[in-house]
Amino acid sequence: MTVRAGREFLAIPGPTTMPDQVLQAMHRPALDIYSNEMVELTDSLLRDLSRLFATQGKSYIYISNGHGAWEATLSNVLSRGDKVLVLESGRFAIGWGQAAAAMGAEVEVLKGDWRRAIRPAEVEERLRRDKEHTIKAILVVQVDTASGAYNDIEAIGKAIKAAGHPALYMVDTVASLGCMPFEMDKWYVDVAMSGSQKGLMTPPGLGFVAANDRAWDAHKKADLRTPYWDWTEREGSEHYRKYAGTAPVHLLFALREAINMLHAEGLENAFERHRLLGEAVRRAVAVWGEGQVLGFNIAEPAERSNTVTTVTVKGADPAAIQRYAKEKCGVVLGTGIGDLQGQAFRIAHMGHVNAPMILGTLAVVEVALTALNIPHGKAGADAAIQWLGENVKA
Ligand SMILES: *Cc1c(COP(=O)(O)O)cnc(C)c1O
Repeated sequence: MTVRAGREFLAIPGPTTMPDQVLQAMHRPALDIYSNEMVELTDSLLRDLSRLFATQGKSYIYISNGHGAWEATLSNVLSRGDKVLVLESGRFAIGWGQAAAAMGAEVEVLKGDWRRAIRPAEVEERLRRDKEHTIKAILVVQVDTASGAYNDIEAIGKAIKAAGHPALYMVDTVASLGCMPFEMDKWYVDVAMSGSQKGLMTPPGLGFVAANDRAWDAHKKADLRTPYWDWTEREGSEHYRKYAGTAPVHLLFALREAINMLHAEGLENAFERHRLLGEAVRRAVAVWGEGQVLGFNIAEPAERSNTVTTVTVKGADPAAIQRYAKEKCGVVLGTGIGDLQGQAFRIAHMGHVNAPMILGTLAVVEVALTALNIPHGKAGADAAIQWLGENVKA
């Protein structure tokens, strides 16, 4: 017996649920890639991406996922043998650093903790010791999608400035752009990157990069540049050069619609929606934790992301919860990855999410816990309902 039918609901951190309008925007013929309509579509998206990153700098669109956008950032500003400092807070900055190492950079990891966000004072201390300025770039994620950590990009930017260090500050916003505030210029970020399939509600397949003047100065000397990723190649006046070839026309239609939806909602309102729904999830997890099996991976409440919550499971099998939720109820939860493999599941709450999606997901987790006899505090979903009822004003 199951209670699933119809649409499966993806509560995984990417690809996320896409709005019907975004899907429908692709249901049309391709454009003549030499037409004015194509040029205007590209120009409008590049302009709006820079607005989303909050930068006066330039944005670039790649036909790639996040891993490709990582490679785009690295190849454009680094040279073989350059030293890169990776700030650890889970899986993803480490992965970015591994790409840098494979490309020929020398990578140092500033050891972090999977249960905590990065501590800016430790970054400042490490940079102050680098008196020769051998570190050329600092890699960090705003939200680590594996651990659920939210890093304070502004505070880390200030720490880099306080140390008087000239390294490029490079930030991954794949799991946060469009969901949580990001201020590239104000926070001293030199290079930012993101992807289409998480907070931006668009099919997988587009990678985004933004770069400021400092990044461009490094770019001019970088020797890891390759033709596809190269910013200079993309500066040519012919439209095809913006994509180093054929434009991903349908993904651009989808992205245009998704950004239109974000503008219609208002970016600030979208951030507030994520805060409210993220807190609703946390209210439920806190109650479940009373059973001593489930808990928050991130110890400090202020360091928990509004886009994904990593729930640790001790003395029970998280895969059994995921299996039940998917096979019996049609909700796909995220799996524990990296150091948390086999020890956690994840609830994504990023992008096209609303109250029924989140409350439904929480209720399904509770159904699973009940069916599997996993000890948990009762009425976690009720706590989420209570929170929304008190905070979403009539
Ligand atoms: C998903 C993710 C990536 C990788 O993106 P892909 O599109 O899967 O290559 C990188 N960084 C973060 C923070 C992510 O959440």
